[in-house]
Amino acid sequence: MNDVILLKLGEVVLKGLNRRTFEDKLMSNIRRRLQHCGKFQVYSRQSTIYVEPQSDSCDMDEAYAACKQIFGIISVTRARPCEKDKDAILGCAKSYLDSQLRSAKSFKVETKRSDKKFPMNSMEISQYVGGLLHDAYPHLIVDVHNPELCVHVEVREKAAYVHGPAEPGAGGLPIGMGGKAVSLLSGGIDSPVSSFMIAKRGVQLELVHFFSPPYTSQQAKEKVIELARELTPWCGRMTLHIIPFTEIQEEIRRGCPEDHFTLIMRRFMMRLAVAVAKRTGCKALVTGECLGQVASQTMDALTVSDDACELPVLRPVIGMDKEEIVRISRRIGTFATSILPYEDCCTVFTPRHPRTHPDLEEVRQYESALDVEGLIAKALQGVERITISMEG
Ligand code: ATP
Ligand code: MG
Repeated sequence: MNDVILLKLGEVVLKGLNRRTFEDKLMSNIRRRLQHCGKFQVYSRQSTIYVEPQSDSCDMDEAYAACKQIFGIISVTRARPCEKDKDAILGCAKSYLDSQLRSAKSFKVETKRSDKKFPMNSMEISQYVGGLLHDAYPHLIVDVHNPELCVHVEVREKAAYVHGPAEPGAGGLPIGMGGKAVSLLSGGIDSPVSSFMIAKRGVQLELVHFFSPPYTSQQAKEKVIELARELTPWCGRMTLHIIPFTEIQEEIRRGCPEDHFTLIMRRFMMRLAVAVAKRTGCKALVTGECLGQVASQTMDALTVSDDACELPVLRPVIGMDKEEIVRISRRIGTFATSILPYEDCCTVFTPRHPRTHPDLEEVRQYESALDVEGLIAKALQGVERITISMEG
């Protein structure tokens, strides 16, 4: 029998969300995510999802790694099935966990039995397997409270399974459970992290990027496409909306005071993102803004940008230190790309002395010198849409 992957469901168990929807969504996300690893059967029994390869050509390592990136799963284990017989279970534990049994100092066996027809109860199975493992690996100490290695035995309907400790899964909620939002993706470190964090809460994302040729280069655009691609193992397939921003920036520079440039620019970003949200059924925006990080990220500045936006703005990294954001960025695999040195449209025409405590009425006044609606409509006509998926 081939190894299987056992997945434990996350938060739904605690929160009493609609369990059925949660499981269905999660299973379809798993099936989609494993498509390129071979043919698998995915089904659930008693809070465990079973991922069973249907042929020898399935890439189990790849599938295991993929499962660790699927939101809604709290732990991932690779397990070896065997016949439902006490000696088959023992033999399986010896062969499957041999190297771990050799290297550990202490161990215990923990059994779950959902097949109540099995002739021994959980305690008897643990004692039997534990006793004979102890004989086979005499250096091991039995430690029921804090063992270095826990040998898990699960006696289920179809088979018995043996596995070592589970690894943590990605947690969160299955993508699609939490509706849709537009995430503003720059080329920086913060916005890929904020996208990841909101996706983790079960939200399907549409990505928006503003680019300003010729001030920003083709490489800067490629960099953002690459970041979006690096997010897909977590966030699933997404559409990246690339919005031309040059004319808006030039108009602001021409018509508004320099110290208000960034503030007004951000109001345009919000409006354009809202327009994309309306077209795509999204109910919120997501940004990588962090309090106090730059001039445009004071509370007064946030008030100014929120004023131009009729949807809630989710800012998951608002209270995080840079190091914390960087740590997540490294873990999810976007850091190396984020630090490539290409300019972003925000660095074009940056004011020398940006206003950090703007007055909303004053900002509105300056902005009224511009043809806001005309500029928005024109930018929206130039949107380029790219589908970003695991398949490339
Ligand atoms: P990041 O590291 O995400 O670039 P930052 O600290 O550099 O953030 P800003 O450049 O002020 O901060 O941008 C704040 C947020 O505005 C970004 O996190 C992102 O959500 C959005 N944003 C900025 N520039 C762009 C852009 N060119 N396209 C899309 N969104 C952008
Ligand atoms: Mg930036």
